[in-house]
Parts: sequence; structure tokens; C-alpha cells
Amino acid sequence: MSSSNRRVFFMQLAAGTSLLAGTKAMAQAALPKVDEKDATAVALGYVADTTKADKKKYPKHAADQKCGNCQLYQGKAGDAGGACPIFAGKQVAANGWCSSWVKKA
Ligand code: SF4
Repeated sequence: MSSSNRRVFFMQLAAGTSLLAGTKAMAQAALPKVDEKDATAVALGYVADTTKADKKKYPKHAADQKCGNCQLYQGKAGDAGGACPIFAGKQVAANGWCSSWVKKA
């Protein structure tokens, strides 16, 4: 496991833990948008537009994967963005994507 993969793994682990702890309170309006250049965003390959995802680095990315249909997304249907436990205190774009994407059950 490369150090980069290890970092991503621990971030995903941390995200899962905060989900278990219940982070619904984070789903607030008017959170600042995640900057694609943020360290966490870069580490997870977050982009505000799923079509801009790095397909070489993330071959499992598919065009129909986006924050809006991710299990971790806390925005409402129709919202332009919403909270995500991976980016605490910030808002991801409904059409965004990161490598922690998990299909909504
Ligand atoms: Fe969060 Fe999912 Fe969007 Fe990644 S794809 S930023 S985990 S909502």
C-alpha cells in the first residue's frame, strides 16, 4: 500500500467513524464550498464536476457517480450542494465526485 493509498484509507476510515457517530447536525445550509485544492480534496481526487475526475488515477470512476447519489451525501435532492462527512464544515457539489464515492443504498 503506497503512503498515498494509506492516507486515503485512513480518511475513509475516519469518515465512516463520523458517520457512525451521527453527523446529521453537519447538514446545514450555507457551508463554504470545498476547494478542489484543499489537501483532503487533492488526496481523494475531489472535483466539483464529476466529468472532470482523473480517469487514469481513478479507473473505477463512472460518469453516473456523483455526490448527489453518494451514500455519504447529506444534501437534499435538487440542492446544488450539501454536506459530506469527509469534508467536515464544508459543502460538496451535487455534481461533484471523490474517490470515496459509495453508491446510495
Ligand atoms: Fe462526499 Fe461522496 Fe461526494 Fe466523495 S462522492 S465528496 S464521499 S458525497
